[in-house]
Amino acid sequence: MNDMPQTFVITQDLFDEMLRHFKALLQFDTTNPPGNETPAARYIASVLQSEGIECNLVEPIPGRGSLIARLRGNGSKRPLLLMSHLDVVVAEKDKWEHPPFSAYEEDGFIWGRGALDCKNTVVLWMTILIALKRSKAVLDRDVIFLAAADEEEGGQYGTGWIVNTQPELIEAEAALNEGGGMPLGIFGRTFYTYQTGEKGNLWLKITSRGMAGHGSVPRADSAIERLLYLITSIKRMSEKVAPPATMRVMIQTIAAHSNFPANIIIRCILNPLLSNFLIRKGLGSSDWSDIMKALMNNTVATTVLKAGHKTNVIPSEASAELDIRVLPGVDVKSYLDKILEIAGPETEVEVLDIQPPSESPVDHELATSIRRVLHRHHPGAPVLPIMLPAVSDGGYLRRLNTVVYGFSPLLPGEAAERIHGHNERISIASLYYSLKIAFEVVADFAAPTLNDFFIIAL
Ligand SMILES: [Zn+2]
Repeated sequence: MNDMPQTFVITQDLFDEMLRHFKALLQFDTTNPPGNETPAARYIASVLQSEGIECNLVEPIPGRGSLIARLRGNGSKRPLLLMSHLDVVVAEKDKWEHPPFSAYEEDGFIWGRGALDCKNTVVLWMTILIALKRSKAVLDRDVIFLAAADEEEGGQYGTGWIVNTQPELIEAEAALNEGGGMPLGIFGRTFYTYQTGEKGNLWLKITSRGMAGHGSVPRADSAIERLLYLITSIKRMSEKVAPPATMRVMIQTIAAHSNFPANIIIRCILNPLLSNFLIRKGLGSSDWSDIMKALMNNTVATTVLKAGHKTNVIPSEASAELDIRVLPGVDVKSYLDKILEIAGPETEVEVLDIQPPSESPVDHELATSIRRVLHRHHPGAPVLPIMLPAVSDGGYLRRLNTVVYGFSPLLPGEAAERIHGHNERISIASLYYSLKIAFEVVADFAAPTLNDFFIIAL
């Protein structure tokens, strides 16, 4: 066995290949529904197979293909999974400056639906796999690649299906996923992030019924009054829960990098009795304030409301759809039981979607690799675990006890609001930065002999 450190160079040519594959992937219309991810999965398979990398295209129903590829290690450690998804959300074409599937390049940006969510991550993992293969590095664990179908619609034809039917294809000790890795500017300081937790979903349709009647004689037990009372009660039961570990470490880290007296006040956000008050006081009515409240609380958003047809008629039926999101640590099934109890037998509660929250330990060997690489490039910069107020495919892997970190690095200033919005685009500089940082993280975690690589400055 050769223990000599191996040298490997990431070249301009490799980065050019990355850009070419990125544009090709953006040009596949994988709008979900219907998804139709198979042609994109086949494209990746042909690229990886031409490098001699073993691929497995799985397709639970025609058109819904996911691609799994594997680089074999020496088996001394359990695998690392590099996960992403191929499908994208719908794009309203007429609201875009450049067509959403054109991969148009202008002023250092590449445009397209999926440019930030998450074909950038697909091509990042693809390129890292190719680079590791060409480097001939000795891996001490398998590195598995997954580009899944159907993430945007819950993953039942993608990662969820693989986990339920063939988990051995993607079983891993740890995984890197989308959903984290974007730097955050907080109080004038840049914090580098990796995502360790995701809230769970409880989507309900509630329908209440009551006596119809004349609007001149209101009744406290009318369908609408009952429905409104129930929604208010569900909102009340959502308040004041203990923050999950991710949020504790995140807030303590921000406090540790703040001056007196802000540091004391920030720590008090962890007190459930004070948190909403302090967030409101400190952040006012800003996007940040809403995001922080969503990260510290179970939340209830009433998103659909239907009742009545005439001003002077009390209707006999009223219904609402609620988008409830619960924090890691909350048992979503007993949460639903509590709602059923409050609702009582007169109100019908239909579960539209239920997904448990998930959280990985903030500290793991993979987190150490992430911190080591970020500190190499940004000496002294704070690194934060963060939580996603929504669900991604990461939750399926956490159910298999895989440590999942959302870490697809970007430069500061990429416009996150374009994700799922109009005019989604990514800077070429960010793609290059992501390759540099993520390649080093993967090498640090899976290929320790590859300690003499370097990347050309572009
Ligand atoms: Zn995504």
